[in-house]
Amino acid sequence: MAMFGILGKRKEKAMPDRRCRHIFAMLSDYLNGELSLKNCRDLERHLKGCPYCIANLESLKNTVELCRCYQVLEIPPPSKKVRDALLLALR
Ligand SMILES: [Zn+2]
Repeated sequence: MAMFGILGKRKEKAMPDRRCRHIFAMLSDYLNGELSLKNCRDLERHLKGCPYCIANLESLKNTVELCRCYQVLEIPPPSKKVRDALLLALR
């Protein structure tokens, strides 16, 4: 990761600009499908030419998927009563 810091200093153009911060603010709405059509088009047009924002989108996507996984894991197992009933039924 330290390498990226060094590269960033040398390549000023690769640094995120104000536009990127604006895009970043819209990314979560975009992933939720809550972005207006106009903003959505702006965002997608920007993404085509901006590896920095594409990387942000990818990491956000991963976060969203991780959250979904945790939600699945948090579903409680069937209660003892239900399990006993199931075991009886399976006998
Ligand atoms: Zn950008």
